[in-house]
Amino acid sequence: MIVPIELIPPQPVKYDITIDKLPKLTFNTKVVVVTNPTVAGFHLETLLSHIQSPELHVVTIPDGEQYKTLQTVESILNECFEHKLDRKSLLIAFGGGVIGDMTGFTASLYQRGIDFIQIPTTLLSQVDASVGGKTGVNNKYGKNLIGAFYQPKAVYINPEFLKTLPKREFAAGFAEIVKMAVMFDREYFDFLKNADLADEAQLKETIRRSVELKAWVVNQDEKEAGIRAVLNYGHTFGHVVENETDYTTYLHGEAVAIGMVMANALAVELGLMSEEEADEVKALLKTQELPTTYCIDDVDAFYEHFFLDKKSANNSIKFILPKKIGSHKIVQDIDEAVVKKVLRRFGE
Ligand code: NAD
Ligand code: MG
Repeated sequence: MIVPIELIPPQPVKYDITIDKLPKLTFNTKVVVVTNPTVAGFHLETLLSHIQSPELHVVTIPDGEQYKTLQTVESILNECFEHKLDRKSLLIAFGGGVIGDMTGFTASLYQRGIDFIQIPTTLLSQVDASVGGKTGVNNKYGKNLIGAFYQPKAVYINPEFLKTLPKREFAAGFAEIVKMAVMFDREYFDFLKNADLADEAQLKETIRRSVELKAWVVNQDEKEAGIRAVLNYGHTFGHVVENETDYTTYLHGEAVAIGMVMANALAVELGLMSEEEADEVKALLKTQELPTTYCIDDVDAFYEHFFLDKKSANNSIKFILPKKIGSHKIVQDIDEAVVKKVLRRFGE
């Protein structure tokens, strides 16, 4: 299955996204695969048996978000120099979003930019991170604050890799899928309500639709000047939840699930969505055992946290809210008292 992606002029970019078993990949250049011990342990042998190249190297970096740093990127760059990669060489990101973001960023830097390919192995990276060209690392000032928009040459999504993914990680990816459905596609939402994700064909269809929606959004707005911001639904609240819990209690997708429930409560308050629709979203999140509750101890502190978010420009918070299920509305300058009234309901 191929979803073509074509970005807007003046610099049209086009790459293929394949959602299927991994094909044989033949290159006439040096190739460096970037992965981590976890992914390599399960799947490296399979990957390597599918790649043909005159010179193939594997760089293994430690597993974990805490290693998504400039230091790690420099260590990958050093390996590229050790192996004397040239400007025609290729990097392959083989892992979840952490590997994908760092490999893409490294590719954008090495000799001012070499090609890279994404082979995502988590549900989150298959439906979200591998498509769209956001690459980068974290630093002490925050997450993903250093980086580049740098598109891959191709994305190969093989749902079979997900068989070894821990259930919690799978659910975290599902949260981003629900996000796409609520923002853009009621029909997809209904499909998800009845989908059996243990079924190969239905999982593939689920991934396909999410990728298609993400590609459609990125096509219109590669650099997040407009509609791409809609992908931050659930994230404004979710980031505060992640931050308050020191990034240790919840996986990102879990915090986004909680964030969507909060955003929905605000949408209900503003008359954008019915109580029943908000419950429908909650029920869908629960099918994958995602968290849907969170106790806000200090509503004022929670509210202040919004302003630390890099996406809240000029001290005004942009809330991405559902307009029913399947459509969205960006609302700026909601009365502080209204937001706090909704937040207070999460304090009980
Ligand atoms: P991750 O890359 O940390 O992977 C989660 C865990 O699953 C890791 O321990 C990993 O080793 C393991 N794993 C990966 N594939 C596996 C498999 N097939 N079987 C068993 N274990 C496997 O996390 P993630 O959720 O994939 O990605 C999160 C990262 O992605 C964050 O850094 C986030 O900022 C980034 N992200 C980027 C974008 C983007 O547009 N670039 C979008 C969303 C998220
Ligand atoms: Mg996200």
